[in-house]
Amino acid sequence: MRSSPPSASRIVAHHADPIGHLIGWLSLARPRFRDGCFLYVSDRGLARLILSRRGYAAITFGHVVVFTREPTDALWRHELVHVRQYERYGLAFLPLYLLEYATNGYAAHPFEREAAELARLQT
Ligand SMILES: [Zn+2]
Repeated sequence: MRSSPPSASRIVAHHADPIGHLIGWLSLARPRFRDGCFLYVSDRGLARLILSRRGYAAITFGHVVVFTREPTDALWRHELVHVRQYERYGLAFLPLYLLEYATNGYAAHPFEREAAELARLQT
């Protein structure tokens, strides 16, 4: 028997969530809830160190997304694709992401290409 589809109000845990919460907390932000995910917005602390200073706008761990500024709709959709990728690949997501990043870099990364493509299609 299939379980019911996830609704926007249901919290679904993912093994990578604590990493995202830790980064959010160490960025001195408080989480909000949106589309079944937690989101932090901060350009301070760890977010400044690992995102802003390196030219990135956001990072996703499981169902937790840390943004350096309020996300545009397009950026939010992009990060939600990464959330779905975490759900699809489970524990393999992070090693796969890092391996592809080391091999292909950011622009040619298949996960990033999928996120960019789907975020664009949903406009
Ligand atoms: Zn991305």
